[in-house]
Amino acid sequence: MLRLESVVVEYKQRGFLRHRQTVRAVNGVSFSMAQGSTLGIVGESGGGKSTLLKAICRFVPIKSGRIFIDDVAVSSLSPKAFFPYRKKIQMIPQDFYDIFNPKMSVEEILREPLEIHFRNLTEKEKNMQIGTLLTSVELDYSLRQRLPAELSGGQRQRLSIARGLAVNPELLICDEIISACDLFSQKQILSLLTRLNKKKKIAMLFISHNIAAVANFCREIIVMYHGEFVEYGTAEEICTAPRHPYTQLLIDVVSHAAEQKACIAL
Ligand code: ADP
Ligand code: MG
Repeated sequence: MLRLESVVVEYKQRGFLRHRQTVRAVNGVSFSMAQGSTLGIVGESGGGKSTLLKAICRFVPIKSGRIFIDDVAVSSLSPKAFFPYRKKIQMIPQDFYDIFNPKMSVEEILREPLEIHFRNLTEKEKNMQIGTLLTSVELDYSLRQRLPAELSGGQRQRLSIARGLAVNPELLICDEIISACDLFSQKQILSLLTRLNKKKKIAMLFISHNIAAVANFCREIIVMYHGEFVEYGTAEEICTAPRHPYTQLLIDVVSHAAEQKACIAL
């Protein structure tokens, strides 16, 4: 359902003495995802993961390469022609302050995508839909008048997922969504995503700097380093027999953190 061919994304950055330099954040990336599949992209901060996701959602332009959704080259479509495809792919961003208006209540945040993409719904149907969305991410109905700042980190993250689900997407792109949560919320969110994947057959593109979290949740993993893919395989292959030294490093970081935790627990 999603295919990328040699996608390149560049940023113009202000450098020394206002000299503008070009940074290649994504350097010739290709991969594909089938309907209902789970794929993880792992790599350190600054490696180009968020940029790649933004390019898929058209929040940043691509310099070269092509992006296909359902075999249509969407990267060459006009913004208007792309509109129906926007619904198919929803991104849960790393920083929810990017998408939530802090003055909008939970209910208003969930109403907005319904009003944009399902214009024919009646008020009653929209209210019912909001209730269903809250239930599907296990948020209490009583929270619907709250502002984002009045929710816990885990609740905000689940609201973000509910907002993505509002348009019935075929693919959810999750950018570091568990990184800022405590362990309990992380578990809750991962089991929620697993259920959405299994029951609703929503494909998941799951991004994290933590290879253990990705391996737990995704069948296949891509390792990204400095804007490029350096390794690709099933979660088991990558974790048991990493071929690239950078992958080994990511695994070492996780096992070192686990050892430290064990020491603190002692
Ligand atoms: P990751 O999500 O893996 O941490 P990013 O995609 O956020 O990586 O960043 C990749 C590179 O692109 C970094 O070097 C970052 O500084 C740069 N970058 C990200 N966003 C912008 C932007 N809006 N303008 C200029 N450079 C950017
Ligand atoms: Mg990022």
